[in-house]
Amino acid sequence: MNRLFLCFAVMALSLAASAAEISKSAEPATIAANRQVKQSLPFADRADFADADRGFIAGPADGVIAGPADHSAWSIKDYGFLSSEAPDSVNPSLWRQAQLNSRSGLFKVTERIYQIRSFDVSNMTIVEGDSGLIIIDPLTVKETSAAGLALYFQHRPAKPVVAVIYSHSHADHFAGVRGVVDGADVAAGKVKIIAPKGFMEAAVQENVLVGSAMSRRAQFQFGNILAKGAQGQVDAGLGKTIPYGSVTLIPPTDTIEQPVETRTIDGVEITFMNTPNTEAPAEMIMYFPKLRALDMAEIATKTLHNLLPFRGAEVRNADAWAKYLNIALDRYVPGSDVMLAQHNWPTWGGDKIASLLAAQRDEYRFINDQTIRLINHGLTPAEIAERLHLPQSLAAEWSTHGYYGSLKHDSKAVYQRVLGWYDGNPADLDPLPQAETGRKFVEYMGGADKALRRARADFKKGQYRWVAQVTAQIVSADPNNKAARALEADAFEQLGYQAEASTWRNSYLQAAQELRDGVSPPSSISTVSPDVVRALPLDMFFDYLAVRLDGAKAEGKRAVINWHFTDVKQDYLLNLDHSALSYLAGRSSDQADVSLSLTRATLDQISLKQTSFPQAMQAGLIKVEGNAGKLGELLGLLDVFPAGFNIVTPN
Ligand SMILES: [Zn+2]
Repeated sequence: MNRLFLCFAVMALSLAASAAEISKSAEPATIAANRQVKQSLPFADRADFADADRGFIAGPADGVIAGPADHSAWSIKDYGFLSSEAPDSVNPSLWRQAQLNSRSGLFKVTERIYQIRSFDVSNMTIVEGDSGLIIIDPLTVKETSAAGLALYFQHRPAKPVVAVIYSHSHADHFAGVRGVVDGADVAAGKVKIIAPKGFMEAAVQENVLVGSAMSRRAQFQFGNILAKGAQGQVDAGLGKTIPYGSVTLIPPTDTIEQPVETRTIDGVEITFMNTPNTEAPAEMIMYFPKLRALDMAEIATKTLHNLLPFRGAEVRNADAWAKYLNIALDRYVPGSDVMLAQHNWPTWGGDKIASLLAAQRDEYRFINDQTIRLINHGLTPAEIAERLHLPQSLAAEWSTHGYYGSLKHDSKAVYQRVLGWYDGNPADLDPLPQAETGRKFVEYMGGADKALRRARADFKKGQYRWVAQVTAQIVSADPNNKAARALEADAFEQLGYQAEASTWRNSYLQAAQELRDGVSPPSSISTVSPDVVRALPLDMFFDYLAVRLDGAKAEGKRAVINWHFTDVKQDYLLNLDHSALSYLAGRSSDQADVSLSLTRATLDQISLKQTSFPQAMQAGLIKVEGNAGKLGELLGLLDVFPAGFNIVTPN
């Protein structure tokens, strides 16, 4: 359970390493590649900068938001280096996006609509109702949302928050809720919490079972433990990075169940349109007909989005995504003067909104359909990714550039969604694992030294993709080969310096750092969120136990356990056999080895590590009938997942 939302919470825990002292300068091939970008894109077009600054009211007082336990929650100050010209070590297009995402403060979007931007990775939108405030997406942690609301109150009349809207089920859009409202006011009916259909299920589900792996992989996606700077982390595409702080969740009191629903909330008319299975399993956009404003949540921002985030997730559906964008364009754009989103900056003017939405629609359409077309010509994922190029008409729009998602990565995601990981070639059906493959390659290449000599020559020629591939084989064969690790790190670094996608840059630079310094020890700070543990359905608790069962240890073991939750009046029958745990809800067995009676609250305390099963039994919080040893045996079979496993070397 404690892996829940680690994906977001753990990311800011490790302090930035001092990578700057070992990072290297841009090589000539990188300098040439980045200069080429500079010449090929219309950097003189400053319209986005005007939009990013439009309506600016005030910035943060000192650029740092205090977090819990002596960590700052957020520091926009760390990005002060972005005020200069793009350096050779950053793709100029990404540098531009990084500058745009650094505009931090309170902004007026239109009458009644304000935004807090760059106080967090996401935006908090504040709508002024007749008597109070409607907050759309209270950021990722309560420290940043509270600071954002405080800034708003310094410049606008102090009115109570009467409603919070969660645009979708990702933590950066709800987990700061306790920074803007008090749970007691929600319970008393003074504040409504409104969410799209399926919100709670999706919000607690997405990161539970593979949360441990996602947390680790997310470090590569966001680069949050890299030093910030021209040779380090500069941006995350959708915003700067992930904050550090308290992850909270207050369940919705009202859900938008129909495909489209119109409500009047505190005098503000809002049409909600559910857009499920696009950027998130549960998501909705919002149209304000009287204010002539359209909030696209996270399905149309100022970047190509990820169809498959680097942290890992169930693959997203570009086809559904494009279709919802098309409907929004048809239905709401003719009556809109401004389009905002829950990341990046707004767009003003009907023509500009229409052209941005059309470009976003056609980009997902293009990636989906052209990938499927090439699949039908027999091309494999790598071949399709190499072949696809956006048409010039799309590439000319800044918002279609891949600062977060990328064309190559997204086309592979489409392949995965429609055909799966297997490319159909039996040579790829059962390859040797990484370490064994590496050893055979090195042997066939005539030894590591000989291969490294050739790889160094290719490095000089700027062939970084190949150098990374070949040195990865040498490092897999022998993770202690320092020369190979160093060359692989150098190749990754140059690839990172050239990448337009923040996700690619962050991944390459994180990989380089780990090859040079090893994997940083995981932080010991607890990131368990009590709100989220309490919100977890019992089914998911047992699903999580099941994936923790060590199959080899469980060989030959059998157990039948009744669980009776006295406060919520729910029964579960748990069965261990054949190295697998299964359960039935609402059932119990007379033949059980042991029967447990406990409250859901006790289970939550165990999940939060405030107590343990043996301690709770001793304290009389768990009533045990039958063979208590069977529970002990089962607990002994549960695996503990490491927080800092290897990624660039074999495990
Ligand atoms: Zn988001």
